Amino acid sequence: MKLVRYGGYKIGLIDDTSVKDISDLAGATADEWPPVAMNRLIRDFGVLRPEIEKARSRSGTPFKDVKLMTPIPWPNKVIAYPVNYHDHGAEMGAGYRANTQGFFLKPSSSLSGASEPIVLPAVTGRRIDHECELAIVIGKEGRDVPRERWRDYVFGYSCLIDVSVRGKEERVARKAADTFCPVGPWIVTADEIADPANLRGRLWVNDELRQDANTRDWVLDLPGMIEMASAIMTLYPGDIIAAGTPAGVGPIKAGDKVRIHFEQVGEMTIDVVQGKTGSGSIFKNPPE
Ligand code: MN
Repeated sequence: MKLVRYGGYKIGLIDDTSVKDISDLAGATADEWPPVAMNRLIRDFGVLRPEIEKARSRSGTPFKDVKLMTPIPWPNKVIAYPVNYHDHGAEMGAGYRANTQGFFLKPSSSLSGASEPIVLPAVTGRRIDHECELAIVIGKEGRDVPRERWRDYVFGYSCLIDVSVRGKEERVARKAADTFCPVGPWIVTADEIADPANLRGRLWVNDELRQDANTRDWVLDLPGMIEMASAIMTLYPGDIIAAGTPAGVGPIKAGDKVRIHFEQVGEMTIDVVQGKTGSGSIFKNPPE
């Protein structure tokens, strides 16, 4: 099953080439704040699934006509594993790997959707890169999850671009700008992915292939990512894990189109535009 957020606040089910509105089943309303209807749907999915399946008989809107928002706009956290492919570690000159270094967090406010652009902050002269990553959506609350039980905690998967300003500032400051975490185009539920550790993921900029790798080359595997994060923090339904990027990261600039594709998961193409804000004091005076 593929689930989307679209049209500002609605939650939908992808049914062939159309979107069936299931906002009523998810309790999604235009004035909901914070917007956590998808988090609740994920938590209650076992109970709701039969009703959601029945919604296939509803009339729909052509998928091509809807504005796709980020599937989970208000997760408790986005957990991101840096350097989780050896070839990316080599290209960055990094001696550490995710299995020893751990993870960082991206703010929920950095999330954007498949129909929304990446807005570059006005950090003149700084390199801003794409990072092609699989998004793992947590389905169940858990702490100290043993690696053998990882499947119980995964709700689904999506495509994620971890946009990053290169430099020596704190990692979070370089990766937290609004729109620096496009996720989409939908969530595909875990039952449709037999082996998340065997998915080819690719990223193009203006049809030039920049990244091409398989999740089998993760340094820290998915059970390990869940075990490591949940040893430190409680995982909640709707939490997102950015699983790390392979080699081939490179700069994006205004006017570019960035396409990300994970087999069995989906594909989206994101416009890159120049914003006026975000130069910030830390980027004006880079640390040594
Ligand atoms: Mn990354």
